Formats: sequence, structure tokens, C-alpha cells
Amino acid sequence: MKIVQTDKHKLHDPQFFMVRGLPRPSAEQPERAERLLAAASAAGHEVIGPDSFGPAPRAAVHTPEYLRFLEAAHREWQAQGDASEEILANIHPGRYPPTYPDSIVGRAGWHMADTACPIGAGTFEAACGAADVAVTAAEVLLDGGDHIYGLCRPPGHHAYADMAGGFCFLNNAAIAAQHLRQAHDRVAVLDVDVHHGNGTQGIFWRRDDVLTISLHADPRNFYPFFWGHAAERGEGDGEGYNLNVPLPLGTGDAGWLAALQPALATLRAFAPGALVVALGLDAYEGDPLKGLAITTPGFAQIGAAIAELGLPTVLIQEGGYLAPELGDNLVSVLKGFEAVR
Ligand code: ZN
Repeated sequence: MKIVQTDKHKLHDPQFFMVRGLPRPSAEQPERAERLLAAASAAGHEVIGPDSFGPAPRAAVHTPEYLRFLEAAHREWQAQGDASEEILANIHPGRYPPTYPDSIVGRAGWHMADTACPIGAGTFEAACGAADVAVTAAEVLLDGGDHIYGLCRPPGHHAYADMAGGFCFLNNAAIAAQHLRQAHDRVAVLDVDVHHGNGTQGIFWRRDDVLTISLHADPRNFYPFFWGHAAERGEGDGEGYNLNVPLPLGTGDAGWLAALQPALATLRAFAPGALVVALGLDAYEGDPLKGLAITTPGFAQIGAAIAELGLPTVLIQEGGYLAPELGDNLVSVLKGFEAVR
């Protein structure tokens, strides 16, 4: 399988992360992408670089206000003179009708969902690089390709149209799906990351042309807490075009694959022209973020089940953290997929 990747991801090296009120090193480290690339290369997959598509693909998914914020935020934050190196929001508008603020402190709180998306000097450039990886992968399908993997870092599926969160800034999977709409009336996004793809759900919430499906650890006691519940089905034209499959914490291969079957039936009924897979590997039993318990061979079964849909498919890297088997798990998914196609 062709792999698209760029070294621009190294420009984003987040330091801050908070767990139950305690600061910890971020789990979203550049080393993740290095290990994924090394493992995929060693397994014989061809690696290509991305083309540059400029601002249009990200502007097709994200708001101009948010994109302006992301591009200039670090400079504006630093200009305060007494600020931290990385941007960390310390106030949020919450649930009451707010006014868009002028100050960089206010805009950070507006556009950042949590403390897991610190913005450093190179974050925007790295995020744009990941978006270019996603669009390059989508272009391969538009040119008649059958399947391709985009090694996107930073990941994207927690990013809304106007809000970063959970290690994510630009929603690479949503950008790929939107790009594929050029050639297909209907596109589906299937999110297999251990966390609910809340940003992707939010972006397509009112639309019936992009079906969003996410299988994930039950958010009643897992990030992102407020989204990912089964009752969230979309609104307006989008009602019925969002499917959430929350799974009990600790669910293993058999339970996960059983839950996938009705999701695949929904996907087939939607009859999309192309599929974007938000490929988190953090559902792994040994992942540091511990939510589900997929094994390394289980990932091959997931890859095979997705391949059996027979759809042109872009696999977009989401989560998956520094377990020794991280690279093996990617290779396992790709092997399972290519055993069918
Ligand atoms: Zn995740």
C-alpha cells in the first residue's frame, strides 16, 4: 500500500498534557510517526511525499475565524510578554451565549476545547502538512487509485470546524472526505480510533452527503465525555447520517468485530462512492491510553473487514501511542486490508 507522509510533523512537539489535574508529558509525540513510518517501510510499503494544496482544502472544512487564529495565535500569545511557550487556554465560553472575543486569551479559550491541544511555534505548519497528506491521499483515489494510507500527524478527528481538542487541530479525515465529494455524491467516514470522532461528527452533523460512523470506548467514562453517545444521530438534513457505537471499556477483538457488523450494514446501505477510515491504533490492548483491548492480529481482522466493503478507501492516521507494538499494529491493519484487495 502506498504511504503518504511528510517530515513537517516534527515541527509540532507538544509538551503539556494534563491527567486528572496533574501535568504529564504529552502522549502525542513525534516519535509516534517515526515508528509508524519505520514499521511500514520495513514491511515493504512504498512511501511518497505530499503535494501542496494551499489553504482551500482546509477552508472547505474549517471556519475562516479559526484558521486565522491557528495561523497567528502563537505569535500573538508570545507578544503578551509574560506567556507560556505553548498556548494553553485557561478560560472557555462554556454553554451560555457568548460574544467572540478580541483578545488572544479569549480566542484561545473559544477555539481550544481542552488542555490536550497546546499550540507551539510550528503547530500550524505541521497541521497544514498533515492536511496536505490527507488531500494527497484523496487525490490518489480521485485519480483512480483503490486504497492508500496517509500518515497524518498531528491527528485530526477531535478537531471541529472551529475548535481544536484532544491533540487535534485540522480534521484530516474530514478534509479528505470533503475533497472526495468532488467526485462522489456520497462519502462515508468510519472512525475506529478508541476515542469518539467528535470533531468529524460535528463537521458533518447537519449533512446527509457524508455519513459518519464511529466505534469507540463508551464516553460515559472516557474522552471526549460530552460526545459519542448512541443517541447523537445528526440534525436537520443530517438526522440519521451519524452513527455512534460506544463499547464497554475493555472490549476485545470479538466484541469489537461483532459491533462493527451493523455499522457496516449501515455503511453499505448508504452506498458511498468512497470511504475514509479514521485509523486510530489506540484501541490496542497495550496502548498507554487504555480504553479497549484489540490485539495485533485483531487489527488485521479490522483491516480485512473494511476492505471487504470493496470501496475506494483512504486510511488516515489518528491516535495510537507509544506502545512497543505501535508499528506492528499499523502493519497488521494494512496486511489484513491487502489480503482482501
Ligand atoms: Zn484516540
